[in-house]
Formats: sequence, C-alpha cells, structure tokens
Amino acid sequence: MGASTAYHLALRGQKNILLLEKEEFFGQGATGRCAGGVRYQFSTEVNVRLSLQSLPMLDRFKDEIGQEINFHKCGYLFVLTRPVDVNFFQHSLELQHNLGVQTEWLSPDEICHRLPLMRFEDALAGSFNAQDGLVDPNSVVMGYIGAAQRLGVACLNKVDVTGIQVAGDRIVAVETDQGAISTRLVVNAAGPWAGLIGQMAGVALPIEPVRRQIMTTTPLEEIPPDFPFVLDFAQSLYFHREGNGILTGMSNPNEKAGFDQNVDENFELINLEAAVARMPCLEKVGLLTHWAGLYEVTPDAHPIYGKTPVEGFYIVAGFSGHGFMHGPISGKLMAECILDGKFLSQDVSMLDLARFKEGRQIREYNVV
Ligand SMILES: Cc1cc2nc3c(=O)[nH]c(=O)nc-3n(C[C@H](O)[C@H](O)[C@H](O)COP(=O)(O)OP(=O)(O)OC[C@H]3O[C@@H](n4cnc5c(N)ncnc54)[C@H](O)[C@@H]3O)c2cc1C
Repeated sequence: MGASTAYHLALRGQKNILLLEKEEFFGQGATGRCAGGVRYQFSTEVNVRLSLQSLPMLDRFKDEIGQEINFHKCGYLFVLTRPVDVNFFQHSLELQHNLGVQTEWLSPDEICHRLPLMRFEDALAGSFNAQDGLVDPNSVVMGYIGAAQRLGVACLNKVDVTGIQVAGDRIVAVETDQGAISTRLVVNAAGPWAGLIGQMAGVALPIEPVRRQIMTTTPLEEIPPDFPFVLDFAQSLYFHREGNGILTGMSNPNEKAGFDQNVDENFELINLEAAVARMPCLEKVGLLTHWAGLYEVTPDAHPIYGKTPVEGFYIVAGFSGHGFMHGPISGKLMAECILDGKFLSQDVSMLDLARFKEGRQIREYNVV
C-alpha cells in the first residue's frame, strides 16, 4: 500500500515524498509473506469492483511499471461442503455476474473431475473463475519502489517511525529513530502495524494483527502446471502450486490477536493432517519451507481508506488478509483522495473510518 501510494502520488507530479520502512528490505511485512493470490471472487460489490480495477493493473504491470510479476492465471476454485456456504456463494455468483465477472458454478462431479489428485467426496458445489490466479508479491513491491524512485520518491529502509507530532488537530512531524521529519501529510500504510501508528497520532483504528501461516513442500511430479488455487472453504484450507511442489495454508480459528510471527508448529501439524486428508499424495513429500505473517483484520473484513479526525493524517490499511491484490488500485485511490479530495476511479467513500462508529459496516463473507 505504501509503495503503490507513493508511486501514484509521484505519477501525479507530487514532490517531496518519503516512503519509510522499518525493516532492512521493502516488502517484508504482510505483503512479502502472503500467498500471492489474486481473485475476483468476493461477496461484496465494493470488493468485486476493487478487483475489477486492480487485477487489470497487474495485467498491465510489466508495460506500465517495467517489472515482470509472473501473473499466472490458474483460477481459484472454492470447494463448498456446507449448505450455508452454497447459499452465500450462489448470491456472490449472481453479484459477480451482474458486475461482468464470469465465475462458473461447478457440480460435485466437475470438481472431482478437475481435481483428480484431491478427495472431495463431500463437496456440494464449487465456484471457479479462470481469471483469478497468482502473482509474485515481491516483484510488485519492488516494481512500485523502483518506479517511484525514478519519479523522485525517496524510499528509505531501516527507518522506524516512533512517533507522530500533532499540533492542535493537524499533523506537524513524524518522529523516527533517525530523527524528526516536518510534514503536513502522513499516509498510514503500516498494514498489521497500522493500529500502532494510529495510536501515535491519537487516532484509534480497529485493526488487529492476527497470525496466519504457510508451508511449501518438496517437488511433486503429479501436480499439473495448470493446477488451480484450491480452497476448502469450510476449513479455510488452501493449496496452490509453488515451484514444483505445493503451498498450503490454513486459518487457525483460535488464533488470538498479536504480533508473533513465529510458526506455530502444533497448528502446522493440524494443517498438514487436513491437507493430506484432502490431497493424499502429499504423504510422499517433505517440508521445503514455512513461515508466518500477520493479517490486518478489521471488524467487517474491509479496508479503511481516507481521512481521519486528525488533519493531514490519512489511512490505507486493514485489508483483512486479501489486500495484496488490491494494492495497485488502493495506491491510485489514495493519490486521488489526497490530491483531488475524492476517490475518482471508484467510490470507496463508504470504507471510511467513521463507519465503525456510525454502524455502516458491510461484511465480506469470502475471507480465507
Ligand atoms: C499468510 C498470509 C497470506 C496472505 N495471502 C494473501 C493472498 O493470497 N492474496 C492477497 O491479496 N492478500 C493476502 N494476504 C494479505 C496481504 O498480505 C495484506 O493484505 C497486504 O499485504 C497488506 O499490505 P500493506 O501494505 O497494508 O501491509 P504490509 O505489507 O505489512 O506493509 C506495511 C509495512 O509497514 C512497515 N512498518 C510497520 N510499522 C512501521 C514503523 N513504525 N516504521 C516504519 N515502517 C513500519 C512494515 O515493516 C511493512 O513493511 C495474506 C497475508 C498473510 C499474512
């Protein structure tokens, strides 16, 4: 979000932009630890529309930003095993069709036919979109950083934001471990850490960090190159091809909010057992690597865009585990919000901070 916002502000001719990153390298936060999935399949209109803007930007990324990002359109296949999910996904399918997104409805037989390596005897239905897929997160971050730098943005790593000075009700400076920087404008794009940055400016943000983890396996020759991103929705269990092996992850429903990014090996075993039950050939493989990262969860699983009660303090965070794919359009929308005073490319004004106080939340059902 930070790299995309800085790039889009600079593209509009804005000068004197600083991008601050506390880590040694860019993209080591949620983005660098994510599964790289990009999809149109959401349950709310605003999320489908964000994908309708953002995924084509990823399609054009190499031409516009000059960086290969390996967009592989393998499709997302949600497998549904509970009647309640079938109901919700049927409504989402209708919404997607109305917005021009051609998601397919699959019967249990079609699911088994498309996934011969998997066991889904309990499948009731499936939802598949061939335009969904995988993109390399690091390439997207570094593409935006490089393009922003070429437009004059100073991208500084190893600079930890430690405080925000507010005078009256407006921003006057950012404090860092390298010294203070005077400014009238700050964009809080700190992902899972956005709540901490909000506190520094005296703005309470309902964004909680929640650990999620992933593992990848050693090569498995049976996995076809076009193997889709498969989600067992009821278990929040997913699989996609990574290199010549499989990447699998599963959401732990009992995970408490916190900043721990160590792998929970007990839960990893639960993930592994569930994965082998769905894909028995995984019994043959070894663990190649594993890692944990943080979701940035809001109460309605939608991001927060725009102004805050402190003048000059903006927010673009809280994407609740599906923000990588909306990074391109979100940076463009933030540039519009700051320079034009409104969101031009798409109306996301309903995703403001005030919605939580005013009871205007809209729940996204399709969260993994
Ligand atoms: C395991 C996992 C799988 C996921 N899978 C997907 C997926 O398949 N598809 C998808 O779209 N999304 C996915 N997500 C969600 C996605 O990663 C996030 O929604 C998205 O990356 C958020 O981007 P961001 O720029 O807001 O946050 P980040 O990428 O975390 O960027 C915030 C940056 O701010 C820096 N920062 C924080 N505090 C400070 C400070 N005090 N000073 C200076 N710098 C600071 C951090 O170091 C970090 O680099 C996944 C997330 C996880 C954890």
